[in-house]
Amino acid sequence: MKRREVNQALRRHGCSIKSDDGPHTTWVCRCKDAQHTADIPRQVNISPGVIRDTINRLKCLPEGWLQ
Ligand SMILES: [Zn+2]
Repeated sequence: MKRREVNQALRRHGCSIKSDDGPHTTWVCRCKDAQHTADIPRQVNISPGVIRDTINRLKCLPEGWLQ
C-alpha cells in the first residue's frame, strides 16, 4: 500500500500528525487524551506488516478503514 493512500485514510478518519521528524510520521487519533498512535515509515510503499500494526494500534477506527 502506498504511503499516500495510508495518509489519506488516516486524515479521512480524523487522525492528525503528532510529530513528523525522523524516519517515521507519528499519527494520533481523535480520541480523548490521544490514546492511540501509529508510526508510518517515510517510505513510498508501506509493508503489510506495518499496515496490520497500524490497524491494531488505531483500534478505535471502524473496521475496514484501511484496506
Ligand atoms: Zn483512538
